Amino acid sequence: MKITHIEHIGIAVKSLDEAIPFYENVFGLKCYNVEEVKEQKVKTAFFMVGQTKIELLESTDPEGPIGKFIDKKGEGVHHIAYAVDKIEDQLQTAEEKGVNLIDKAPRKGAEGLDIAFLHPKSTFGVLTELCENKNK
Ligand code: ZN
Repeated sequence: MKITHIEHIGIAVKSLDEAIPFYENVFGLKCYNVEEVKEQKVKTAFFMVGQTKIELLESTDPEGPIGKFIDKKGEGVHHIAYAVDKIEDQLQTAEEKGVNLIDKAPRKGAEGLDIAFLHPKSTFGVLTELCENKNK
């Protein structure tokens, strides 16, 4: 596979209303976008740190993936997202190398990126997202 950089780190929080002021007032980062991703049952908030983003994830439904994650593990780091080119090729390579894919084909994530998840059982416990910005 070919990864270019860490696109973002996804962090599950119970409340964006509480977490955003913390990131702004304590860490001094600026929230530049809040967006709901309905299919994922989350509301996301983004902060830029160099070329990497922090993506805060608040569940909009206890049965959604973030709702279940927080229920099981509490708040904390949820996934790491690597930026790639030609995401379809990277997924194919990953599958050929025996990685268990959550998404066999890319789908639309926040900020209009094409994204796909790899199963944490195949990646030493880290839920791993690949993403490609096809609009750049
Ligand atoms: Zn993400």
